[in-house]
Amino acid sequence: MDWTGAIIMEPVFIGFRISALMQPPIHSIASNNIMASSPSPFSPNDNQLSSASHSQTFDVVIVGAGIIGLTIARQFLIGSDLSVAIIDKSVPCSGATGAGQGYLWMAHKTPGTATWDLTWRSHQLWKLLANSLQEQGLNPLVELGWKKTGSLLVGRSQDESDMLKGRVKQFNEAGLKAEYLCSSDLIKQEPDLLVDKDSAAAFLPDDCQLDAHLTVAHIEKANRNFASKGRYAGFYNEPVKCFIRSDSNGEVKAVQTFKNTLYSKKAIIVAAGCWSGCLIQDLFRNWGMELDVPVKPRKGHLLELQNVNFLQLNHGLMEAGYVDHATMPDLESSDHGRDLSVSMTATVDATGNLLIGSSREFVGFNTDLNESVVSHIWKRVGEFFPKLKKLSLSDLSASRKVRIGLRPYMADGKPVIGPVPGLSNVYLAAGHEGGGLSMALGTAEMVVDMVLGYPGKVDSTPFAVHRVLDQMHATQGKS
Ligand SMILES: Cc1cc2nc3c(=O)[nH]c(=O)nc-3n(C[C@H](O)[C@H](O)[C@H](O)COP(=O)(O)OP(=O)(O)OC[C@H]3O[C@@H](n4cnc5c(N)ncnc54)[C@H](O)[C@@H]3O)c2cc1C
Repeated sequence: MDWTGAIIMEPVFIGFRISALMQPPIHSIASNNIMASSPSPFSPNDNQLSSASHSQTFDVVIVGAGIIGLTIARQFLIGSDLSVAIIDKSVPCSGATGAGQGYLWMAHKTPGTATWDLTWRSHQLWKLLANSLQEQGLNPLVELGWKKTGSLLVGRSQDESDMLKGRVKQFNEAGLKAEYLCSSDLIKQEPDLLVDKDSAAAFLPDDCQLDAHLTVAHIEKANRNFASKGRYAGFYNEPVKCFIRSDSNGEVKAVQTFKNTLYSKKAIIVAAGCWSGCLIQDLFRNWGMELDVPVKPRKGHLLELQNVNFLQLNHGLMEAGYVDHATMPDLESSDHGRDLSVSMTATVDATGNLLIGSSREFVGFNTDLNESVVSHIWKRVGEFFPKLKKLSLSDLSASRKVRIGLRPYMADGKPVIGPVPGLSNVYLAAGHEGGGLSMALGTAEMVVDMVLGYPGKVDSTPFAVHRVLDQMHATQGKS
């Protein structure tokens, strides 16, 4: 095994396996028909120290500038007087965040669960942010791609429509505005949707959506306003090389990249999406301890069609099957373990692009475009929208882009948020799978309340890192 950090400068040096750092970068964007990168507003030189091994001290150091890391930084900046450094191996939005469709929906969440509570709180905070922009004379549509479209969870069989009726009842009991639409009501809402006698939908009129790229740019810009006061710095294109531990109290005292050593006085937050497991595992292994945080990359393709004027979409749409992501039955045997699933989702973004998706599969850290997955998505969406079925994907090649990202997947469906056992100043915030945009502001609030010792607005126990330890010990006990 190849390890970095042969030269030990500090009493205890926690090195990282090179392999963990050499994962192919995520491209929501690539050549040909894959989505081409919009020019990044995040110049690597902005707020960035370039001299080799330069040391700086901040109160909080965050690893990962996806939506989770950036919103945590924002929350520290607006909710305390602490200084914050954020590090990314690439640039903001280069991970799963940049591939996100942007829906902030409750329709596929289940009342009474921990993720329901966190998502609900998070949506309240997103709405407060959108309102506060409006109060400042800014347009949330321009700043965040914010739209209140409402969402429809669409069923196409008697079983699904029974399930939707039950969900609507649960939503109403939980205090959420929701309406069951029978087929004749549904066709009025969405005339381009294929609706037959068994079709039905759960309609959540208050659900909203945002644009991940606009939102990240807005948050990063707002965070940078604190840079002149010495409270914020972004270190981009700097993979974390290792953590440095204090010999006196065992705390992790700094995070090191190839260029900079960033000391932390208060807390280190690992918000590195699907890479968080590798980081934490290697950190622990170097101390002869074990902590397997089983965050796995779950690859997703999302199709973006520009200038679509042939399809009317009045709300955000998601098929009822999205709730459990059933694996596709007709795969080759070589695809075993890949668990490919494709569920129809359709939204129109702030600039009028039609976003349709999406796929889920386990293929490690691979982010290559897979045309067969795109075809599966196209076929699936065509089953819901007859107008799309008439078109072939090649007809649309000029206006087509594909976003690809690795969702940070946890098998029990819950993110891990909280202090890492045995390390009083290291916190983890990862594993949001397909709901990281949705849950970001709630997660950020939760992490900052924990670090500052404030009571939480949402019970954080179900997300605690030690549940992973408990599961690990239970598995070890069985073997
Ligand atoms: C196709 C698709 C559609 C989606 N649609 C939605 C949606 O509509 N709504 C929704 O809520 N969610 C959606 N999601 C899920 C959402 O995008 C993710 O849950 C969310 O982006 C996770 O954010 P994150 O910050 O944890 O991870 P990421 O965005 O992956 O960020 C992690 C960051 O850590 C950095 N990093 C990793 N290792 C290191 C290292 N060693 N050193 C320094 N930096 C490192 C990476 O470069 C990356 O920038 C979608 C995802 C996909 C793929």
